[in-house]
Amino acid sequence: MAIVIEGLEKIYRVKRGADVRALKGVTFNLPDRGMVFILGKSGCGKSTLLNVLGGLDGFDKGDVKIDGQSIKDYKAKDLDRHRNNYVGFVFQENNLLETESVQRNVGLALDLQSSKDSDGRVAAALESVGLKDLAKQKCNRISGGQKQRVAIARALIKQPKLLLCDEPTGALDSETGEEIFCLLKELSGDRLVVVVSHDRESAEKYGDRVIELKDGQIISDSSPLEQQSEKANENEQTEKKKRGGLRFARAYITGVSYIIARPIRMAICLLLCLITFTCAGVIDTIYAYDRDKAMLYTMDKMGSKCYAFARAVKLDNDTYELEKYKMPKWDADELASLLDVDRCDYIYYVDNYTLFLTPNIGDLPKELVGEKYYCVNGYVEADESFAEDYGFNLVAGRFAKTTGEVVLPLFLFNFFKTYGYVDGGNLVKINTYDDLIGREIRFATHKATISLTLTGIIDTNFIFEKQAEVLFGGTPPYGKNGADFRSDMQAIDMDMIHNTMFVCNGFYNYFTTEYTNEYNSDATVLRVLAPYKGSDAQKLKNIRIYATQYNGQPVGGDEQDGTCYHLVNYCGDRICNAEDTFNRIKNYAAYAVAVLVTVSALFIFYYASGTISDKRREIGILRALGASRRDVVKIFACEHGTFAAGAIVISLTIGAILTTLLDNSFMQAYGLGTAFISFGIRQISVVVAVAAFAVVVGVAVPLIKLLIKKPVDVIADRK
Ligand code: ADP
Ligand code: MG
Repeated sequence: MAIVIEGLEKIYRVKRGADVRALKGVTFNLPDRGMVFILGKSGCGKSTLLNVLGGLDGFDKGDVKIDGQSIKDYKAKDLDRHRNNYVGFVFQENNLLETESVQRNVGLALDLQSSKDSDGRVAAALESVGLKDLAKQKCNRISGGQKQRVAIARALIKQPKLLLCDEPTGALDSETGEEIFCLLKELSGDRLVVVVSHDRESAEKYGDRVIELKDGQIISDSSPLEQQSEKANENEQTEKKKRGGLRFARAYITGVSYIIARPIRMAICLLLCLITFTCAGVIDTIYAYDRDKAMLYTMDKMGSKCYAFARAVKLDNDTYELEKYKMPKWDADELASLLDVDRCDYIYYVDNYTLFLTPNIGDLPKELVGEKYYCVNGYVEADESFAEDYGFNLVAGRFAKTTGEVVLPLFLFNFFKTYGYVDGGNLVKINTYDDLIGREIRFATHKATISLTLTGIIDTNFIFEKQAEVLFGGTPPYGKNGADFRSDMQAIDMDMIHNTMFVCNGFYNYFTTEYTNEYNSDATVLRVLAPYKGSDAQKLKNIRIYATQYNGQPVGGDEQDGTCYHLVNYCGDRICNAEDTFNRIKNYAAYAVAVLVTVSALFIFYYASGTISDKRREIGILRALGASRRDVVKIFACEHGTFAAGAIVISLTIGAILTTLLDNSFMQAYGLGTAFISFGIRQISVVVAVAAFAVVVGVAVPLIKLLIKKPVDVIADRK
């Protein structure tokens, strides 16, 4: 190692006041080894010179060449490496990490080289400065002279070729000072030691050479060196040590220790972040709410076997009302053509109201008389293929073959089972299906009675327990033994499949002709039925035919006359009600989250500025020891990354719990025992993204401000 300094000039530009010319053309060479003193009064430029030599500070004119290579050509990376591998610094203030052990302070230099202390180098370095026994001691527990020895050991551990000492004994009493000089003298046997001092006596006693500075210029040199060949020692130049940067474990421990440096700021910041991240996740569940998927999920959960569609009409601009009772056959045909299904069936309309089973039903409780729940709403032409395609089970008898025959759904059979069958004034108890099959079932309309023979009973999959679970959260609101069908019917009145009658093919033609005077109407279809089958995509496509009273877009139909079609079932309306509420929440929720994120980012900024300014000196020491900007970023990334990860984990937990609670209250509010919102992968991503955004934005500014400073300014804590 040969160092050539040529016409070095350094000007400090002072914001207010005259610029300071700290070095005014300094030229000299330095040998490979020995102890060189730079002597001079305070303010003459000694420290400046040393900082330039060590790569802690830049210069304005002239050059410093190390092994023939100009420092000016060094990139930031090369300067870091220069500090890390070739130079050891010892400052007047020892610049130790006070709260760490002697051993750790020395080991830090190794961490910065990404190397482990496998060969006992720390112990060896401590031994060489006579501190073997104090390895585990905290630095704030040892004397000034011992601290300076630790600082020397730390500088030595990298086996630097150049040891730069800036008034190393300045803070020590003269006796301890002597010891340090002795130690440095000893070390200068196989390396170059440059000592800055204003102690002429020691300089002359220990120095192999004394260079005196005054006002930024050399005024004397005890044994100047001849100009060396610039191409000195090519071997050494190529032997650049590799350097991997700060070890992760070290960066992590350091970063994490910073988290609690400002506990109050940290706590406030954490609280804010938790609120923000949790809100972002929970609110996103509402944004993620998909009405149609909720419908699909609900129908699946209810074990639905068929869709039922009706027509809706436009009331005003975007309000549609379900036409519960009937639609013309051509609308039903159009609706059927819009569906992605294999077959469609119609529930035909029979009367202005319904066909009551009153003539045959026994002891009907008073409160049920006059209710329309023990009646048929309409009829479906059905045969074996119907049962097969829909997955309905004919539990007894056979399908109707003539217009005088009928099959009743299990739901209605249960009325007879509960209340008995009236046969010409005699009450007959009905226990089994066969007790009823073959009997005449009379339906009362307002004008006449229709009489049909019962040939079979079909199970339309009215699983009350299953529906109750979805609709009422598992508590059926009906009376003893399922006898009170009133609430059940509220649930099933919409799709009408459970109280329709099943008749033979051709019944529609027969019925409309036979009863032509009374039932002559274009509007003859109550519901369009289709099997609820196929892939989720197919189901969703059908579910989307779903204009609603609230905000559905009309599908099909004639927009001119305001018709559209509507999937009807009891849950559908509730699901739409919920969507309406969600839409209202959505109107302002995004703004609320945006405000929260901004406030959090500001607080993270405040918190990060706090730790960064607290740790400025420590960072400065690391930089002097050779830490690169990347190393510093690593440390703060570990700090804030850990902070953010903690906040994210807690927020996700709270978010998931909160979502469950919220979902339960939605289910209660809308009388549905099925989930509305759920906390999933999407919400986790949202929380992580929001957290990353807030933390990066909050930390970036103070960190960049720190990074653009020169190491010398960071150590000196200059703004
Ligand atoms: P020494 O170490 O010999 O006491 P320095 O090298 O620290 O002297 O300082 C040389 C001159 O430069 C002094 O006049 C000092 O006030 C000035 N100086 C040092 N650092 C700065 C700085 N960052 N900004 C402005 N002036 C500075
Ligand atoms: Mg100084």
